[in-house]
Amino acid sequence: MRAHGAEQQRPYERPPLSKDHLRGEVGREKVYVHEEAFYADHDIELRLGRTVAGLDPAAGEVEFDDGERLRYDRVLLATGAEPRRLAVPGADLDGILYLRSVESSDALRERLDRGGAVVVIGAGWIGSEVAASARQRGLEVTVLDPLAVPLERVLGPEVGAVYRDIHADHGVRMLMGTRVEAFDGDGAVERVRTADGRRLECDFVVVGIGVEPRVRLASEAGIAVEDGTLADEHLQTGAPDVFVAGDAANAQHPYYGARIRVEHWANALEQGPAAARNMLGRARPYDLLPYFFSDQYDVGMEYSGHAPMRERVVFRGDPPSREFIAFWLAGDRVLAGMNVNVWDVNEQVQRIIRERVPVDDRQLSDPDVPLERHAPLPAARAGDGAPLTAGRATRDTARSSGTPN
Ligand SMILES: Cc1cc2nc3c(=O)[nH]c(=O)nc-3n(C[C@H](O)[C@H](O)[C@H](O)COP(=O)(O)OP(=O)(O)OC[C@H]3O[C@@H](n4cnc5c(N)ncnc54)[C@H](O)[C@@H]3O)c2cc1C
Repeated sequence: MRAHGAEQQRPYERPPLSKDHLRGEVGREKVYVHEEAFYADHDIELRLGRTVAGLDPAAGEVEFDDGERLRYDRVLLATGAEPRRLAVPGADLDGILYLRSVESSDALRERLDRGGAVVVIGAGWIGSEVAASARQRGLEVTVLDPLAVPLERVLGPEVGAVYRDIHADHGVRMLMGTRVEAFDGDGAVERVRTADGRRLECDFVVVGIGVEPRVRLASEAGIAVEDGTLADEHLQTGAPDVFVAGDAANAQHPYYGARIRVEHWANALEQGPAAARNMLGRARPYDLLPYFFSDQYDVGMEYSGHAPMRERVVFRGDPPSREFIAFWLAGDRVLAGMNVNVWDVNEQVQRIIRERVPVDDRQLSDPDVPLERHAPLPAARAGDGAPLTAGRATRDTARSSGTPN
């Protein structure tokens, strides 16, 4: 087997890059997926620093940027995503940083070491985690976002407000409902100008305004793309022997009966092997529920499901206490659930979603009604200790396998 990557580093995990690695609490060795020897030991030829420039499905070949061509029987596109760039005056000044690679995390860490004032543009997951890490390192932090609360797109206004308060309590200046108009500075950024007329003096800026899936190889090869490379439920694209996984994949999901693209670690971790099995002829649909986690200050959370059609949110526990579960519902069905500083409930949350259990809001919100009552374990598996979650790659498995999160 051959694996090719444009990066110079052997494969590594990105979640620590906005968390403990960024804060300087763990070194580079901690972010690698495997020991260096793993690849040779498993007959994997790893070619680092090599960019694939073209894909030729008719010939069954890929072409590198130096013209070398390589034959394949099957190919997996795991090209991921790249940060969306801000296009405003001054956007090319020094000191305006983006975060995706381990090198960009190192560069940002070096800025955090110097201290000072940072403006974070974007209050999504990356912006929120960077803001938390910067505050934990003692910097003066301002966060700017056009939406009313952080993380609003995924979590909605009620739970987003909880995160706004968490950041405000830690001393972050949250400027919601406004956007950046321009950056000023002489060579390097010194000031952020906002649409509502503010002038924010700063030492540097971090931009976290989302990512775009990398689809160029697929689209230039004539493979259909639309917010990612399109694939069926087996992660196979429209071209013979070409599969896709991870942030780049917009794949048919049997549970949702629609295509979804997921930009999260567990999805990349699970879809890779699932695609590999199908590349070897297994033809098994990929149907795990989306799952992700985030850590900000002392607040950890896990989110399962997919809730663009949510109608309301039901809380179990007290949000201001920062120990609660939020459920997003449509009708009497739970579309997604998020446990915040409440642990070992992910399996039940996923079961309620996956089995489309009809729920009653009052019972769901009542901590005295065990979650198991909504979705009892099947008798054969109850108590046998087997992992029952749809998404097996939870933060617990990440921790116990030594994978940073
Ligand atoms: C700072 C940060 C923190 C995160 N934290 C969390 C978190 O807490 N929880 C969570 O669930 N998710 C988190 N994520 C998201 C998670 O890391 C991504 O979902 C995951 O990395 C996606 O993996 P991937 O393999 O699909 O893509 P990527 O990780 O983007 O990897 C794609 C690789 O393909 C290479 N490549 C692209 N094009 C070519 C080419 N033409 N030739 C050769 N190589 C190429 C790229 O260089 C890259 O190395 C975080 C992401 C970042 C950046």
